[in-house]
Amino acid sequence: MTARILVVDDIPANVRLLEVRLLAEYFEVLTATNGLDAIETCENGKVDVVLLDVMMPDMDGFEVCRRLKSDPATSHIPVVMITALDQVSDRVRGLEAGADDFLTKPVNDLQLMTRVKSLVRLKSLTDELRLRASTTRNIGIEELLSRNFASEDTTPKVLLIDERKSSVERIEKMLRDRADLDVTSDPHAGFFQAAETPYECVMISTAFADFDPLRLCSQLRSLDRTRFVPIILLAEEGEEERIIRGLELGINDYLMRPIDQQELTARLRTQVRRKRYNDQLRASVTQTIEMAVTDGLTGLHNRRYLDSHLQTLFDRAVARRRPLSVMITDLDRFKSINDAHGHDGGDEVLREFARRLRKNVRGIDLACRFGGEEFVVVMPDTDGAVAEKVAERIRAEIAQKPFALGADGKTIEVTVSVGVSSVLKGVDTVAALMKRADLALYEAKSGGRNRVVAKAA
Ligand code: GH3
Ligand code: MG
Ligand code: MG
Repeated sequence: MTARILVVDDIPANVRLLEVRLLAEYFEVLTATNGLDAIETCENGKVDVVLLDVMMPDMDGFEVCRRLKSDPATSHIPVVMITALDQVSDRVRGLEAGADDFLTKPVNDLQLMTRVKSLVRLKSLTDELRLRASTTRNIGIEELLSRNFASEDTTPKVLLIDERKSSVERIEKMLRDRADLDVTSDPHAGFFQAAETPYECVMISTAFADFDPLRLCSQLRSLDRTRFVPIILLAEEGEEERIIRGLELGINDYLMRPIDQQELTARLRTQVRRKRYNDQLRASVTQTIEMAVTDGLTGLHNRRYLDSHLQTLFDRAVARRRPLSVMITDLDRFKSINDAHGHDGGDEVLREFARRLRKNVRGIDLACRFGGEEFVVVMPDTDGAVAEKVAERIRAEIAQKPFALGADGKTIEVTVSVGVSSVLKGVDTVAALMKRADLALYEAKSGGRNRVVAKAA
């Protein structure tokens, strides 16, 4: 894992110290000795993680962090605050400024590496999502996210898995009004509950009489539905080894008992914020992909989708020596429907046509809007004779039932012409297959419309 780490500290000797240790682990290291330089480096370069000293003259680490986190161009870069004192108040201030984690000086080597590595992993996931979300839509990711930024004020749904009653009561009290908290004392039940409910964070106590809490962490990480749920470990003093193992297994954060309320709520908020950000990115990737291959008017696949899939279906049919047919449909005299009933009327006809088309083909058939009032259906495992019957059924379905227009019960007669072709034995290509269907359609039109013409294989 290689990544670029920015080390920010006003004392050059401190910078050097961290730099040497990071270089030894093959990280790339950038450095800055004041806040403004650090911010500029983040804006310009490809920084994966920032290690940020809190106490600096001019602009302190809290302010640097706040600025990084409030700029959409840098807000996704994980920030680790480095505090001189092991002071809860400093940690809480850091977390409130949006820091993702903190380390205390002198920095423990193992902690440094595990924290940095786990944040680098998270960052690369976020980067991948940002990239995918923005490239297909050709707009900046910041713009995409600013459109509907996940609300920060809805109460997060949280699961606490802890078998000690007194601890549960304390945490319940701390999170009252701050989280919608479910509690279970049984780790096995907790696992299933986490799998069934979309929690935004799972908190796991390490104090079980006879159960290894890390097993639960690793189970949650390996199950698809819980892979991305943030896990916070509630550990005891002296459990550093276990925490480090946990971080390696993919827990997101930990708290040491006795738990401080401010720290608990700040850490929970950080995890939930990050999860919502990534969920939103993921949803927007999915939506982008769907939008790119779907026709907005009819909900059928679009031509781009057809272009990328027809070759695959064709190759598969040839390889398996199975038949494959396509039909191209074109509504008759559609221009005059538009002329008589307006463009909106025409759109309504297109939508209804798509509905009837979908209803009359099988699930494995690929129905697409090819453009305008032309549609294409690809039918795997279907020879010419069967395809012709399907086409005839669709033609009849259109011609026999008039289309309703608007709410006032007006109807119009619509007809469609269809050209059918099938993959030939011997040498054939996708282009030739489509060309034959197009010729058949042309014949159907010149032969009088409202008819099916099939090119014999
Ligand atoms: P033919 O029987 O020969 O196919 O006659 P036609 O009028 O259907 O043929 P032509 O291809 O010349 O006209 C198609 C019309 O479809 C022209 C265009 O304005 C209209 N059209 C294309 N896309 C849409 C659309 O999304 N909505 C609407 N309402 N009309 C569309
Ligand atoms: Mg046309
Ligand atoms: Mg037409």
